[in-house]
Amino acid sequence: MIDIFACLNRDQRPPRNWAHRVWPRAVAPHYPQTRRSLTYHEAGHAIFHYLQNLRMTGVYVDADSKSGKVSMDVPAIQATAAKLANVVIPRPLEEKITLDLATMYVAGVIAQCTLYGIRVDGVLSRDCHDWRNARKLLIDIFGNDHALFYCQELARFVLRKYWPFVTQLAIELDSKGAISAERVKEICAGAPPDPMCIS
Ligand SMILES: [Zn+2]
Repeated sequence: MIDIFACLNRDQRPPRNWAHRVWPRAVAPHYPQTRRSLTYHEAGHAIFHYLQNLRMTGVYVDADSKSGKVSMDVPAIQATAAKLANVVIPRPLEEKITLDLATMYVAGVIAQCTLYGIRVDGVLSRDCHDWRNARKLLIDIFGNDHALFYCQELARFVLRKYWPFVTQLAIELDSKGAISAERVKEICAGAPPDPMCIS
């Protein structure tokens, strides 16, 4: 598993203490609701699944190009959760995992904003699956969702670093409609982080 924060240079990532600051609301970004836009959304999630070594089975966009998803290996995730149920995870690690997972959820929309050159200058408030999941994770651990903007910024920096791979994922998803987890790994294998960042 890669430490996505440590992979970025000091001047290419949001300061960690931003996770505890309260940020103003951002104006909702407008971007095309097209198949291309959707493929970048899913590619944005997929690169984080790869970087975080999450148990994905594939990435899809529906034939009508209205929705897509990164599918997960649910039994494997449940088995891991069961194993960890009685393990006390140190608080700093718990916070880091939470921030990384919330970043994975917001990365879809941030990939779309990146594609269309939209800089989000505050906390996005959205009524969607991704935002509900990100906010729930943050509120469960931190008691609030102040870290949402930090997660948006972390997603933006990571996506920028790996943009050629996000683009390749999106193009292939557009043409095929589905990419297996193995193919995601093949595409992203060219995106090695600095060796010191692999944990
Ligand atoms: Zn999404």
